[in-house]
Amino acid sequence: MKYFSTKNISTPASLKEAVLSGMPGDGGLFLPERIPVLTPQQIEALSTMSFEEIAQTMAAEFLAGDIPPGDIREVVASSMNLDVKLTQLSEQMSILETFHGPTMAFKDFGARFMARLMSYLIKGNKRELTILVATSGDTGSAVASGFLGIPGIRVIILYPSGKVSPSQEKQLTTQGQNILALEVEGHFDDCQRLVKHAFADAELRQRHHLSSANSINIARLIPQSFYYAFTAGQLGQKSGEFVISVPSGNFGNLTAGIIAKRMRVPIKHFIASTNSNDVFPEYLKSGDYKPRPSGQTISNAMDVGDPSNLSRIRYLFDDDMDRIRSEISSWSFDDMKTREMIGQIFKRYDYIIDPHTAVGILGLEKYLEVHQSTLPGVVISTAHPAKFPESVEPVIGEKIPVPPQLAQYLKREKLATPMSIDYEDFRQYLIDTLD
Ligand SMILES: *Cc1c(COP(=O)(O)O)cnc(C)c1O
Repeated sequence: MKYFSTKNISTPASLKEAVLSGMPGDGGLFLPERIPVLTPQQIEALSTMSFEEIAQTMAAEFLAGDIPPGDIREVVASSMNLDVKLTQLSEQMSILETFHGPTMAFKDFGARFMARLMSYLIKGNKRELTILVATSGDTGSAVASGFLGIPGIRVIILYPSGKVSPSQEKQLTTQGQNILALEVEGHFDDCQRLVKHAFADAELRQRHHLSSANSINIARLIPQSFYYAFTAGQLGQKSGEFVISVPSGNFGNLTAGIIAKRMRVPIKHFIASTNSNDVFPEYLKSGDYKPRPSGQTISNAMDVGDPSNLSRIRYLFDDDMDRIRSEISSWSFDDMKTREMIGQIFKRYDYIIDPHTAVGILGLEKYLEVHQSTLPGVVISTAHPAKFPESVEPVIGEKIPVPPQLAQYLKREKLATPMSIDYEDFRQYLIDTLD
């Protein structure tokens, strides 16, 4: 299968080029040249399949032709061995828990799959691959955990000093082995700028093989489509259809859902739920896309003012507003509403949710109310509440037990190299470290 840029469909790239480069050179994003379609028999069989079996089936649809079947099986078996659970809270609301992986957020799916796939694709390359990733928290920890110990790949994480949570910082800085952490004296934007600068540095790129692991990489989207199909199977509806609310920031998770729907997973409608960073709901309302700087909220992994996957969504709907509106609704909710929902869900169901999931539930309830829908509703729960104790515990009035995955990091010692926001310092560090 070829991959083309949303900005230029005439120069397709191979799977290897698309995954190892991360991004086409023209400012667009990669999409597969066609989205594979599951047969009615395959859809019917979803209810009898485990998550890993579904992942095997769907990954093969994307990768066959580029990778031999035995190798696809290995990539999937070593990365998609994650628990996913659909927990029913009420007649019309189920929660898809995607947070049971090593860093307890859905980003483990994308990061692990990308890591194993990249590791396969660089086999036989002589040069080591260096992955640069700027993070405000969750992406960096998932990438660090996903790439840990993978031969031939080194990961350099840049994070803003003092601006990630203590538990996130431990997950970024205590892995060791092939994972290096740089603590940047600045903001997330400074980290991102240093990474972009390095990619634009021709001399550096001649010396070293650099790649990116940010959410623009198509290898992170593909595995996220698998759990939408798993949801359909678990609901086991004869008619099949359901609506699903996706807590959204960069809109990678939602784009993966659109891909799943095109593969024939019976999703009736998407709800893109956002925090007060409401560029997407505003865009659906007015038809005008107006990116702006993000504001800080308690669902901070969704604090995005210019969602990078919007170009993919527009491309997939031929930039036709009416078509987008017929499949996606979107609302924004502030921190006060988010806290209220965390409290309500705890009271009603004795179930603890994190702030991102609360935004997702608000979106589903709004949709069901506005449309008087009788379809089953699903909310993707994107992170475990123990990652956000400072927001959740005061609302529920209880301590959240720390799961073993998180506890093990907290005991380890932080190992990070301080870094200024001056590109020359970063460049010198790369040269000294990589040569
Ligand atoms: C990254 C993240 C999101 C947003 O996902 P996108 O794919 O960027 O829309 C939501 N919740 C959590 C916990 C996240 O880490």
